[in-house]
Amino acid sequence: MASKYPVDNLKALAVKHAAVYWRRAISIWGAELGEMPDVRINTRLTACGGKAWHMRCEGVPTRAKEYVEYSAYLMQNNQDTYAIEIIPHELAHIIEHRLYNKTGHGANFKYVMSKLGCVGKAYHEMATMSQAKKGNAK
Ligand SMILES: [Zn+2]
Repeated sequence: MASKYPVDNLKALAVKHAAVYWRRAISIWGAELGEMPDVRINTRLTACGGKAWHMRCEGVPTRAKEYVEYSAYLMQNNQDTYAIEIIPHELAHIIEHRLYNKTGHGANFKYVMSKLGCVGKAYHEMATMSQAKKGNAK
């Protein structure tokens, strides 16, 4: 079944924004930070703006299996917010994990976000699909 979202376009846009932030991250923490994680678009995420995955293989973190994914629904409707907040947010989780081997929304996360030039908020304020359906979207 064809997706109701322009997934390819959203992915290209997400990769474009992510690459800018990743270049900034490399200029700050150096090439040893490693490759930018895979960027994916998830058509089933409708409340959460995105997720950062730190997969482990037999207990050992494997960078090859890390990826960030973004909600097709929310990204389509909030492209500006994605460019300045959501895209760097998930990348910051990956960066924090690589630098400190842990992740969350604490001081390290806020530090990484501030170095990327962003505000490290834990939660987004975008209208989710369930809010839109109820008609109380802000
Ligand atoms: Zn987060």
